[in-house]
Amino acid sequence: MPRFPGVDYLQFDSLLSEQELLVRQTARQFVDEQAQPLFKDAFNNGTFPKQLIPQMGELGFFGANLEGYGCAGMSNLEYGLIMQEVERADSGLRSFISVQGALVMYPIHAFGTEEQKQRWLPKLQSGQALGCFGLTEPDFGSNPSGMLTKAVPDGDHWILNGEKTWITNGSLADIAVVWARTPDGIRGFLVEKGTPGFSASDLHGKLSMRASVTSSLHFSDCRIPCCSLLPEAKGLKAALACLSQARFGIGWGVLGAAMDCYETARTYTLARKQFGDKPLAGHQLVQEKLAWMITEITKGQLLAFHVAKLKDAGKVEAAHISMLKRNNVAIALECARLSRDLLGANGIMDDYPVMRHLCNLETVKTYEGTDHIHALVIGERVTGIPAYR
Ligand SMILES: Cc1cc2nc3c(=O)[nH]c(=O)nc-3n(C[C@H](O)[C@H](O)[C@H](O)COP(=O)(O)OP(=O)(O)OC[C@H]3O[C@@H](n4cnc5c(N)ncnc54)[C@H](O)[C@@H]3O)c2cc1C
Repeated sequence: MPRFPGVDYLQFDSLLSEQELLVRQTARQFVDEQAQPLFKDAFNNGTFPKQLIPQMGELGFFGANLEGYGCAGMSNLEYGLIMQEVERADSGLRSFISVQGALVMYPIHAFGTEEQKQRWLPKLQSGQALGCFGLTEPDFGSNPSGMLTKAVPDGDHWILNGEKTWITNGSLADIAVVWARTPDGIRGFLVEKGTPGFSASDLHGKLSMRASVTSSLHFSDCRIPCCSLLPEAKGLKAALACLSQARFGIGWGVLGAAMDCYETARTYTLARKQFGDKPLAGHQLVQEKLAWMITEITKGQLLAFHVAKLKDAGKVEAAHISMLKRNNVAIALECARLSRDLLGANGIMDDYPVMRHLCNLETVKTYEGTDHIHALVIGERVTGIPAYR
């Protein structure tokens, strides 16, 4: 497998420190040597390559931008560069890391008790324990505030009833972060695998994100101890704070998928000839598509870089992250479509990664806030008028 040369049109790398370049190089090497070779089969077979988990733990990928409890304590920029590299392999790999770090470790780190942190964070960081995040329900996706899952206090326990669906890593997880309606409003809970009344079943038949496990979680009079409550996870805003962490990672990650599609199209069209001895890349219509891709990837890199700097400075807003997620997913999806086109019939084959990226990116457009919902967040930010209802 040829090594990825990187995509850097505008001397983007000159913005990065030695340390940031080293973090990216480490992730790049892991992807080129360990991860990328596995994802064609993983996608086709509909399985996640679990053998990658221990090494990702050792490399510090899980909860990379968190401090303490064995976490790597990286900057948000370094974390973003890791996400970019891993999504070059497959959006399912980045999803796995996003869920583990941003949607499971982050809420425990931000909203948990010291005991919850000591118990779970080191194990989640190393990959010895896996987690999932249960917010979406069958009837409440874009509008989680309508959730029906309930937690009712009962002495020193809570009784949980309801169903969550579309949950990444649901059946793999040792611990589920579950959001439920209580007499006190929406709260977050930690529910352990094996708790009576809690089960998970996998969704089958996906044509996108096939290398990622997606499940439904079922709670039927599930009794969990009082200490399962994340004490500071109060209201939907706590769940949304977790989503902001994950969306930031997506905004970086999809650039990796876009780069893989761009680089595949560039090398393919340089090599393939039609109508005489001229490579496809020598035709104006082909160059126009490559020019569009490299321009949008470059703009996406600069957007991601600036949002990471704002996040590191504690100045980022959820609406900034909405722009990053929405824009970079949209351009990555278009890069995948253009690349598929430029590869002609070969573009639909699994010998090339572009059709797989294209299918995966359709999910990335929908999850963690759809394209529409992020447009409404941006719309509210610039008009002051919420237009969700
Ligand atoms: C592979 C995969 C993994 C996932 N992983 C997780 C996970 O780990 N945890 C979790 O909790 N969830 C997860 N999700 C769920 C995901 O977050 C939801 O699918 C997403 O929020 C959209 O909800 P929905 O599918 O119910 O679509 P809907 O909310 O029904 O939306 C359908 C369409 O209507 C549009 N729409 C909705 N409301 C409006 C409006 N007000 N104005 C304009 N348009 C609107 C949407 O933009 C979309 O185009 C996952 C989904 C997938 C596909």
